[in-house]
Amino acid sequence: MSFTEQDLREQLVDVMLKMAARGLNKGTSGNCSVRCGEGMLITPSGVVPDALTPQSMVFVDASGAAAEGGLAPSSEWRMHKGLLDRRPDAQGVVHCHSHYATVLACAHRPIPSVHYMVAVSGGPTIEIAPYSMFGSAELAEAVIETLDGRFACLMANHGQIALAPNLGRALAIAEQVEEQAAVYWGTLAIGGPQLLTGEQMADIAAAFGRYGQPKRRPKDA
Ligand code: 13P
Ligand code: ZN
Repeated sequence: MSFTEQDLREQLVDVMLKMAARGLNKGTSGNCSVRCGEGMLITPSGVVPDALTPQSMVFVDASGAAAEGGLAPSSEWRMHKGLLDRRPDAQGVVHCHSHYATVLACAHRPIPSVHYMVAVSGGPTIEIAPYSMFGSAELAEAVIETLDGRFACLMANHGQIALAPNLGRALAIAEQVEEQAAVYWGTLAIGGPQLLTGEQMADIAAAFGRYGQPKRRPKDA
């Protein structure tokens, strides 16, 4: 399904409102972006979700230049652009400071194979990108390297980030990372988790490929 630029602008507002409503972000924390032609659309810096409109989204071109006359792009535009440049499988990127993911990120605790849904992140664990200043090129590089083909990671002393073939899916992954962070945190409070094995996690990843409704085939297939 292909979206118009207006659709994508509306989707970005929708994701920011949902993240606020679901408690994944507070105030002006967090941001999101979506691939748009040769560039990307990204949320503006420092604007609370309630004040966002489709027109306040910022187009950043392939060279990294923001559209003239509009709002300044998110301070994390390098991280979003770097991910979209280096991950052709990604169309949407969601970053948030959700509570439990941030607790673990501040304790430098990656999420181990504590629950089968950890595999939604694209791997058996959810790793942590080393700390760098928010908005820095170093943070962008650290996140890209830590993701290493996966769909989500924590960001040390900061929060979490998720990417996917569309924005809705990226939001769903970020919500699941938050849920798994809360589960892991909870197990740490009662003596620690009993982890799934590497073999069990590999089976789960394979089962995800078969999960849900069968793919609809074209009539003449
Ligand atoms: P922006 O308001 O610039 O997007 O920054 C929020 C944030 O989460 C920085 O990491
Ligand atoms: Zn942030």
